[in-house]
Amino acid sequence: KNYTRQEIIDSAAEHDVRFLRLMFTDIEGIVKNVEVPISQLTKVLDNKMMFDGSSIDGFVRIEESDMQLRPDFATWLVFPWEMEQGKVARLICDIYNPDGTPFAGDPRSNLKRVLKEMEKMGFTDFNLGPEPEFFLFKLDKNGQPSEYLNDHGGYFDLAPTDLGENCRRDIVLQLEEMGFEIEASHHENAPGQHEIDWKYANAVEACDNIQTFKLVVKTIARKHGLHATFMPKPLTGECGSGMHFNMSLFNENGNAFYDEQDKIGLSETAYRFMAGILKHAKAYTAVCNPVVNSYKRLIPGYEAPVYIAWSAKNRSPLVRIPSSRGLSTRIELRSVDPSANPYLALAVLIKSGLDGIEHHRENPEPINHNIFEMSRKERDEKGVLDLPSTLHNALKYLEEDEIVQSGLGSHIYNSFLSVKKREWAEYSQEVSVWEKDRYFKIL
Ligand code: GLN
Ligand code: MG
Ligand code: MG
Ligand code: MG
Repeated sequence: KNYTRQEIIDSAAEHDVRFLRLMFTDIEGIVKNVEVPISQLTKVLDNKMMFDGSSIDGFVRIEESDMQLRPDFATWLVFPWEMEQGKVARLICDIYNPDGTPFAGDPRSNLKRVLKEMEKMGFTDFNLGPEPEFFLFKLDKNGQPSEYLNDHGGYFDLAPTDLGENCRRDIVLQLEEMGFEIEASHHENAPGQHEIDWKYANAVEACDNIQTFKLVVKTIARKHGLHATFMPKPLTGECGSGMHFNMSLFNENGNAFYDEQDKIGLSETAYRFMAGILKHAKAYTAVCNPVVNSYKRLIPGYEAPVYIAWSAKNRSPLVRIPSSRGLSTRIELRSVDPSANPYLALAVLIKSGLDGIEHHRENPEPINHNIFEMSRKERDEKGVLDLPSTLHNALKYLEEDEIVQSGLGSHIYNSFLSVKKREWAEYSQEVSVWEKDRYFKIL
């Protein structure tokens, strides 16, 4: 809903809102809050709210650290739960330079920039329906996250009800109260693992929803004595958490991915877009799977993709075409995980797909049998490449792919690359517990 200035002021009074959270997302995908008392509301609505950008990772600038927060009125939301000091509302903001231009290091503004390029190519909307998965672990008696699960496999969990199921139901109820249209909510494969899916939305709104979702999940989990984590692979030997992206492109005539004439109902545009998605997969993996731990999930045997291929028939490849057609024709990218910054992930994916359309890229043949049962030789013959196996490799591919880089813009690309290279260096220099266990005694 697009609220007016006055509607926001009235809503704040009506709900007796005491604090206002100005939210934005940093380059690493972490939600940042600047919290102000409600007395500052009009100042906020008039774009007069400044904050010190130098204090935030990924936004570091040497000079001119006073950045402007411009709230998006459509994101006005009063959190349904009561805090001790009263109700809290939020507004999601874009970040502007002191001179009034959008800040190039702001992932949300960057996504809007890429969407403008999409509009220039004759499209009107890009829709995203995400499927985030997460784990619930118990909090210990000091309120700290523990390694104990709340359901089967949990240590002395003899309680008749599953804490996790109750918690998930509560999350769903809170989300519905906040306007989310929940389509599915279920226990996932691994112990303690859950998934909640809601209705697709336009690119920016869908990303806002993901960030809001994470916040709600963590907040409600804590109220249930649980810790929610979106870490891609928290448990060795169990499935990790993905965040499948269901994506569709619209023009004035409706869903540009649908063509009833085609034998599987996909348009030329859909095939080209998919070709771009497959072509740039190695490079954007660095953005869609941005942490060291992401690559512990992308291994054979755990329902996560490992090879770059597509299919309308089975779930093993990187890209799947879900069976619904017409308005809901879409492509599902199965590699993305919930540690990704959704604004950045979507920006590089749109850019990759548009590159396929712009350059009339040829889509490879579908792989309709289980890729995990194919030999290296069979995969080579069909041109099926591997996804990068480590963050280090993914970053190398990112450094070679100018299309994906341009989806980030040079400011974000450079910060992202340096932050991630540091992360990899730190990891690779650490002598791990695994190594000590494996080598210390026998060597
Ligand atoms: N958890 C799986 C993954 O890592 C997905 C499982 C599923 O939704 N089929 O992507
Ligand atoms: Mg699902
Ligand atoms: Mg799932
Ligand atoms: Mg799925």
